[in-house]
Amino acid sequence: MEYKLSNEIEQLRIKTRDFVNGIIIPLESEKSSYDDHENINQTLLDNIRKQVKASGLWAPQMPIDRSGLGLGPIGMAVLYEEMNRSIFGPVCFNCAAPDDGNMYILNKIASNEQKVKWLDPIINGDVRSALAMTEPAPGGGSDPSMIKTEAVYSNNKWIVNGLKWYITGAGVASHFILLANTKDGLTAFLYHKDQPGWNIKRRIPIMGPEEHGGHCEIEYKGLEIPDENRLGEVGQGLKIVQIRLGLARLTHCMRWIGLSKRSLEIALEYVSHREGFGIKLADRESIQIKLGKAAMDIDISRLLVMRAAWKIENGSKARQDVSMAKIQVAETLNNVCDTAIQLNGARGYSKDTILEWIYRYARQAKLVDGATEVHQMIINRFFNNHKSDFWHWGIGHDL
Ligand SMILES: Cc1cc2nc3c(=O)[nH]c(=O)nc-3n(C[C@H](O)[C@H](O)[C@H](O)COP(=O)(O)OP(=O)(O)OC[C@H]3O[C@@H](n4cnc5c(N)ncnc54)[C@H](O)[C@@H]3O)c2cc1C
Repeated sequence: MEYKLSNEIEQLRIKTRDFVNGIIIPLESEKSSYDDHENINQTLLDNIRKQVKASGLWAPQMPIDRSGLGLGPIGMAVLYEEMNRSIFGPVCFNCAAPDDGNMYILNKIASNEQKVKWLDPIINGDVRSALAMTEPAPGGGSDPSMIKTEAVYSNNKWIVNGLKWYITGAGVASHFILLANTKDGLTAFLYHKDQPGWNIKRRIPIMGPEEHGGHCEIEYKGLEIPDENRLGEVGQGLKIVQIRLGLARLTHCMRWIGLSKRSLEIALEYVSHREGFGIKLADRESIQIKLGKAAMDIDISRLLVMRAAWKIENGSKARQDVSMAKIQVAETLNNVCDTAIQLNGARGYSKDTILEWIYRYARQAKLVDGATEVHQMIINRFFNNHKSDFWHWGIGHDL
């Protein structure tokens, strides 16, 4: 077992860290950097994205022959953590949800023609994308097998009717991946925003800051999708989404670790100079215990994420590992940010730091891409099947 990085990844990490520290983090304290939904504004984003491209750090998760850096999950874990030390970071590098997960699945299963048409423009940053899966009751939420949106085949095309909601980025997306029920099971499709037969009913207001394009409720009324825009085989939709969500969940974790680290850095900086009752806050044992626990929780998260990343890079689905990482990192992000706010006193509750932004954003981590309880159910399924072997170490080629 080796707990070390390649030189190449370490060099990229340093370059990414320097870019985030030098160029992106300073933007967070300028009010003019934000759009109406508390994200980086589009003009500024376009400008920073140009600088990222020029620095050779653009879309590192995509293959080299598609203008990326060809990094696998291990390299991604290292870089995404650095990127999301800024609340604006991942989207500047084209590593933010949902484009990140959508690019991953298109690269993995789309045909060559589909990749040129649907994937390359997302990689280049020319268009944004969305994944439309979740539905209001009685449709599919935690249980996608309940999906009611229907695609009916007729004359070489599919006619789609139904309802989706909480579709991240739908307000600005041009390329959509849609999961619908066909008579042979769930099937994935691709459609373009300019096609008729669908509309955004509303942008759902949420608790925290929003991704570009918000979280939308979408109605399908006779959307026609040519069969050539079907993604994968008929009836394989659930499998496709599971492949997408496997790594997408983990990339959420990679990013959330970055936010957790930044929260703790802000707390450490404050307690290191603030004095009370005769000594610095940082010199109090009760404060040291809080910081020590938070630092350890972040490292537990990193180990779980890296183990899952390593397994995926080596060909495993790592389902229970991803589920454990997802629960752990979501909890850690919420707890560490809460601790950081507490240690900053009134300042923590203000908008003078980004802690309140992270705090409101963090709550979704326990819900999106599978609620905590659903991941506990998955972990228990593996535990039940493997009993004591659940806790095995891989030997040789065994993962
Ligand atoms: C900010 C945000 C962004 C999102 N982006 C997207 C997107 O881009 N595309 C998309 O398709 N969806 C998206 N979603 C939807 C998200 O994936 C779903 O909310 C999630 O899968 C849960 O589904 P649900 O809301 O229908 O919850 P439900 O299935 O109604 O479950 C409600 C609650 O019941 C509990 N529960 C559910 N199942 C179990 C179980 N088996 N055991 C114990 N308890 C259980 C959990 O506490 C759960 O939170 C987004 C949601 C949010 C909040």
